[in-house]
Amino acid sequence: MKSIAQVVAQLQGYDPQALSAEAVNTFLDGLVEPVSAVETVGIFDALGRVLAQDLMSPISVPPHDNSAMDGYAFAGAQLRNDSPLELTIVGTALAGKAWAGTALAGQAVKIMTGAIMPTGLDTVIPQELTQEAGPDRIAVAPGRVRAGDNRRLAGEDLMAGRAALGRGERLGPAACGLIASLGIAQVAVWRRLRVAYFSTGDEILSLGESPREGAVYDSNRYTVFGLLTRLGCEVIDKGVVPDEPARLETAFREAAKEADAIITSGGVSVGEADFTKAMMKKLGDVVFWRIAMRPGRPMAVGRIGEAVLFGLPGNPVAVMVTFLAFVRPALLRMMGCRSTRQPMLKARSSEAIRKKPGRTEYQRGLVSTAKDGSLQVCTTGNQGSGVLSSMVQANGLIVLHHAQGNVAAGGEVDVMMFDGAI
Ligand code: AMP
Ligand code: MG
Repeated sequence: MKSIAQVVAQLQGYDPQALSAEAVNTFLDGLVEPVSAVETVGIFDALGRVLAQDLMSPISVPPHDNSAMDGYAFAGAQLRNDSPLELTIVGTALAGKAWAGTALAGQAVKIMTGAIMPTGLDTVIPQELTQEAGPDRIAVAPGRVRAGDNRRLAGEDLMAGRAALGRGERLGPAACGLIASLGIAQVAVWRRLRVAYFSTGDEILSLGESPREGAVYDSNRYTVFGLLTRLGCEVIDKGVVPDEPARLETAFREAAKEADAIITSGGVSVGEADFTKAMMKKLGDVVFWRIAMRPGRPMAVGRIGEAVLFGLPGNPVAVMVTFLAFVRPALLRMMGCRSTRQPMLKARSSEAIRKKPGRTEYQRGLVSTAKDGSLQVCTTGNQGSGVLSSMVQANGLIVLHHAQGNVAAGGEVDVMMFDGAI
């Protein structure tokens, strides 16, 4: 496990008072490591988990050459450009019930989708492309099919002995189906990541408490809970912790024992009463950053015991943005995922956006399809870092990169789609 100082030593131009968003991710890549424990789970439990070993195909899928259509199988070498091919139907091949005979020249076998191709036959003509040419006889007009058409080859999906899925693959519905198609009932996955979280601040009310002047209900716990659950983490909710050293110390110590990562919100900005920051410093190896970004400038990162600490700012939008930009990729890495960055798409901004070079801005965006079929994006109203409704309306974050300046109406911008993350 690396210390903050060791990670910093490997970075160039590291300035904790003006860190670029890119540098934050580079730092975190250096800090966090994948969990090591592996467990074996059935396919229904594998959804969202991360594969811990390369998966070789024990069989080929499909196991035999088979028909991709309902129609007639025959040997394609008989096809002529200038004259129809007449064939006598000598049998029927059903899915799951092969035709055992041998078809000769001039003969065809009626075949259903998925049925094994009879020996020596390589071509299927769909039923609707044939003409009747007498009892048990069909005609195939020239140009309707080519030799080899409508036949699926053995192993064209997965070949026996080859890698079907790689270690580090996060298993989605398609991957789960693919594993099952190999006849494999259980897979080795990394153990689930345990993440503890709590909200800090004397002004934060838990649900059920009566409103009082200057206090706000805690929303961060619920957004963080949702974001972690979507990632497939085991969540440990430690509630709202007020600015009392003893309570903070207990919360941090417990969380560090129980979890691989701790996420807090609030209490890391410059003007804060120093309780949260002081406790992080006392208990762990922690650095406090000012990140060149908007929203979400202050952030604390480090370790408390064995657990990685992400001390997020308090503002509700800043929490979600810093989670998506930094915490999510770091947690994916800890989960053993090979691919940790969310892909971005390009969309035309339907409005001009003011942007200062020298910081990364994450504006809440609503992407839609324009009349001409291209993607367009507009911002969702008030972009204040406390305006959580902007996150509800948006379906992605418009990412205005560090060096980027103003965007003209119609200009292209990068969008990080929320996709399954929110
Ligand atoms: P802080 O980073 O602690 O200075 O908080 C910044 C702003 O976010 C303040 O207006 C806080 O009241 C607000 N805030 C902090 N934590 C939460 C929370 N858990 N839920 C909702 N708002 C919060
Ligand atoms: Mg505060």
